[in-house]
Amino acid sequence: MTTLARAYIAASATSPLQPGVIERREPGEFEVRIGIKFTGICHSDIHTARGDWAGVKYPVVVGHEIAGIVEAVGARVTGHAVGDRVGVGCFVDSCRECVNCRAGEEQHCQAGPVSTYNSVGRDGLPTAGGYSTSIVVDENYVLGIPDGISLEEAAPLLCAGITMYSPLRNWGAGPGKRVAIIGMGGLGHMGVKIAAALGAEVSVLSQSLKKQEDALRLGAQDYYATADTGTFEALKDHFDLIINTVSAEIDVDAYLSLLAVGGTMVMVGLPPQPLSLRTWSLAGYRRNLTGSKMGGIQQTQEMLDFCAAHGLGAEVEIIPASKINDAYERVLASDVRYRFVIDATTY
Ligand code: NAP
Ligand code: ZN
Ligand code: ZN
Repeated sequence: MTTLARAYIAASATSPLQPGVIERREPGEFEVRIGIKFTGICHSDIHTARGDWAGVKYPVVVGHEIAGIVEAVGARVTGHAVGDRVGVGCFVDSCRECVNCRAGEEQHCQAGPVSTYNSVGRDGLPTAGGYSTSIVVDENYVLGIPDGISLEEAAPLLCAGITMYSPLRNWGAGPGKRVAIIGMGGLGHMGVKIAAALGAEVSVLSQSLKKQEDALRLGAQDYYATADTGTFEALKDHFDLIINTVSAEIDVDAYLSLLAVGGTMVMVGLPPQPLSLRTWSLAGYRRNLTGSKMGGIQQTQEMLDFCAAHGLGAEVEIIPASKINDAYERVLASDVRYRFVIDATTY
């Protein structure tokens, strides 16, 4: 038995997303069916739909910032009930047995986590993501959305929120730490909010001064335009932690020069092309260059609870599904303030 769901589907890397219908299985005994209310548009959706990254299998339904209401539960589900406000992020399953799964780092499952889209589920069928009216997910990979956050503002937390919260926590953002966020888009703006709530001194490094007022309102103390070369001179050796959210190539050496001794730059942006680096940029000042990918289930729930406790949600522009392709163009032009969220009643 299956349920039909309406969806927006990418048929190929070059075709615009189109409306269509997909099948969702009936929830198994440990699964829940979620009636999706809102799904955020992450830049990773665009990289995938447009074939920027290798290995995309078309047709694909993307979307991994999902917020909705539980519609049905399997017989042995204990953690969620019909009517609960819930979310689903970037993965919907993992092996649960490897050292990383057992450590709560399911996003680094050695067997490969089952991604919310463009992956193969335990049932052997391709996974289809959140640009859809419903989804069926094992209850262990479903997060509870606290009452304090609206579903539209919560949806982007399921990827953008955790992708920033995890490195900010793991690399000790807090009082007395100078933190820079490169790129003020979907991830970047959540980084500003979360780092500020953690008590860090936050700066934004954006291409232009266009988003300065917003950044200061969201909690940044300083804001710099990277198009102004004076920025790199003025901020030399300045930061303890830099998080790079840029979806395109950057001058890695130039940004590393902004780190103080022992400072760390974390790459979360995933441009399709390789980046180059002079090793002197690391050797001098004992600087660290690392990366981070989403966060585990437990840390994602911790992030949602943290955001609710601090009154943090994403800044969203709600769009009907018919505007998804236009929204993609605006994201690619860095013209998003700061996350497009699709209203699931419009598929
Ligand atoms: P986004 O909303 O498009 O934000 C990216 C920001 O980067 C833009 O708003 C812009 O900020 C800046 N930017 C864009 N093009 C640039 C260029 N050519 N040069 C310099 N800066 C540029 O995207 P997002 O959804 O936040 O995602 C950002 C990246 O992170 C994507 O590559 C995505 O795939 C990746 N991602 C990774 C993870 C992970 O787990 N590691 C999770 C989610 C997303 P300004 O206008 O302020 O300059
Ligand atoms: Zn994402
Ligand atoms: Zn595993």
